[in-house]
Amino acid sequence: DRLIAAQPQGSEVHVDHAIRPQRLTEYIGQPRVREQLDIFISAARQRGDSLDHTLIFGPPGLGKTTLANIIAAEMDVDIKSTSGPVLERAGDLAAMLTNLQAGDVLFIDEIHRLPASVEEVLYPAMEDYQLDIMIGEGPAARSIKLDLPAFTLVGATTRAGLLTSPLRDRFGIVQRLEFYAVEELTEIVVRSAHLLGVEADRDGAAEIARRARGTPRIANRLLRRVRDFAEVRGDGRLSEDIADQALNMLHVDRHGLDHMDRRLLMAMIEKFDGGPVGVDSLAAAISEERDTIEDVLEPYLIQQGFMMRTARGRVVTRLAYEHFGLTPSDAVAS
Ligand code: ADP
Repeated sequence: DRLIAAQPQGSEVHVDHAIRPQRLTEYIGQPRVREQLDIFISAARQRGDSLDHTLIFGPPGLGKTTLANIIAAEMDVDIKSTSGPVLERAGDLAAMLTNLQAGDVLFIDEIHRLPASVEEVLYPAMEDYQLDIMIGEGPAARSIKLDLPAFTLVGATTRAGLLTSPLRDRFGIVQRLEFYAVEELTEIVVRSAHLLGVEADRDGAAEIARRARGTPRIANRLLRRVRDFAEVRGDGRLSEDIADQALNMLHVDRHGLDHMDRRLLMAMIEKFDGGPVGVDSLAAAISEERDTIEDVLEPYLIQQGFMMRTARGRVVTRLAYEHFGLTPSDAVAS
């Protein structure tokens, strides 16, 4: 598995549980999102209303699921979680909806992957708290309507552009998560180290933060691997030097890039003269899924200025050439 993959891996789900922030005040960074949600939640609580349906979008590992759970905790209601691909049939969604109590949060991760037939059931549920569904087939088929309790749908998606507009329009609150700044990630590593019982220098935490692609999930994973290194090769303490040695050994470079990022950028330089190149050609050239490139690899590379998306395709920037000790003219000549 890729060490700096933004998706959760293996047993991480359990470890994550111990370090996942439970309350808005423990949620580090994303100041704009935190401030707005704090107001919306307080207002809804004061009125005794359920919170408006909320859409959270942003790359994997930035804290969407965490935020959905925090919303439920702050509203003092239960949360039921599912995901777009799991809800295959309208009946699957109906079962979730009819299990909700007034005020509850229904969290749908990867909401852009809901089948169209399921999405249609969601519209009246979101708008009028009405379940309107066909049961049975052929001449015996009939439609049933049920009233649902007022609930809050929290949807998460990696890219807002993937949502159909009727679905997007039904969210009263839309929040976009940004990659975290190094200082924020440092705070996150310091907090997680404390919860995991690791003694950490601030400089050690900062070294992990600089190489974590702006992503809390990756920062926490690197922390666990650096801890192993510190326990075996050092005195257990997380220092800048230990973090640097451990991450070099793990081939995570000073910008947090790994072999997959390097392969992507080098393919653009060597096979496509730096671009522009279409994402499908790029996916074929490095034998990766197009979705992996669009969701996982390129958002961070674009944010860091290593590549750009243009109307004609992806292009690498001067910074990418420099990263490999090349200049654009060298690469074209070679
Ligand atoms: P997503 O749903 O966007 O993929 P998660 O909510 O599962 O991401 O977050 C991944 C992990 O990163 C969580 O388990 C949590 O420990 C950590 N995390 C995310 N956001 C924050 C934050 N703002 N502050 C502290 N830790 C965070």
